[in-house]
Amino acid sequence: MNSQTIWRWLGQAALCCLLGQVASAGAGVGVGVGVGVGVGAGAAVGQAACDAADAAVPWQQVADGVWVWSPPAVADVAAANAGFVMPVSALVDGTRALVIDPGPSLLHGVRVRSSLRCQTGANVFAVVNTHAHAENVLGNAAFADAEAIYALRETAGAMAARCPQCLESLATRVGADAMRGTRIVLPTHRLVPGQDLLWGRHRLHVLPAEQGHTDGDLMLWLPAAGWLWAGGLAYEGRVPELAQGSVEGWLAALDRLVALRPKGVVSAAVSVACAAGDTPAALLATRGYLVALRDRVWAAMDAGASPHDTALLTLPAYAHWAGYAERHGFNAQRAWRELERAWMDRVPVAGPNPPEAPKRD
Ligand SMILES: [Zn+2]
Repeated sequence: MNSQTIWRWLGQAALCCLLGQVASAGAGVGVGVGVGVGVGAGAAVGQAACDAADAAVPWQQVADGVWVWSPPAVADVAAANAGFVMPVSALVDGTRALVIDPGPSLLHGVRVRSSLRCQTGANVFAVVNTHAHAENVLGNAAFADAEAIYALRETAGAMAARCPQCLESLATRVGADAMRGTRIVLPTHRLVPGQDLLWGRHRLHVLPAEQGHTDGDLMLWLPAAGWLWAGGLAYEGRVPELAQGSVEGWLAALDRLVALRPKGVVSAAVSVACAAGDTPAALLATRGYLVALRDRVWAAMDAGASPHDTALLTLPAYAHWAGYAERHGFNAQRAWRELERAWMDRVPVAGPNPPEAPKRD
């Protein structure tokens, strides 16, 4: 079976997952059907005092000890969502929790901490940052006292370099009030591809880093549960952000992630396979957009267009995705810069042969 056939088959297999996600969306839960074993405060047994806000946080246990809190809607960062556009997840073992990507602000991180304590009885002792984007990592501010904040070397470096500007930019978009008290807390411990991160009974495997969404995308694999953390590499209903990434690198990364056959993926979206061996729909949706982007840019080059011919670079099929107006044009420019060299190498230059160099005696 060749690669194209595999992807066509995967697309068909994903249809039932998409239907499942539509069905569950009405219940305000961002995770598909068939995997939840407990939702929100209903799964709690009163291990800790809960205020109403903590009890209302819709944590969902998607596998044994694996909890996910999805944003209420697929959207770009805005004042209305205070920057909460990426899922927050936690591995819980007894009374100890490890949080992966704690969210956009101190306030959000504090809510993560108190609602986990309320609903699972666990306190947060460590944090993982999957990549250096503000909406994922600025929630570190609530965990400055953690035993460890883990990240790849690339992510720690990018956070040190860019977080001051990221914090300023996020505050501009969501408002200073939503970001009050937020300060930059950098990772304290490095993760290295190939190592296992042990958290009680959970064994998270650190996969080789990818360079698709950023220059250092952390991939974490929990084989016992079949769940994968894919940083910002899997979107659904929202235009992927290519600003610091590579379209070819991203597509190659998706091939590797699909080959793992994950039951579920936590990334820019939370997405589950509807049956054993199927592929979570977000992986397919992201690949679909990136292939369409690459093909459109390539076709524009073939037509003799320039990157300024933006009308030739639109993707109307994705115009309904969140962030299309804000981000697709920039993605096309980024993809053009990346693909131009390969396009030039592929097409022979027309015209007279270059003059021969003068011969030496
Ligand atoms: Zn990101």
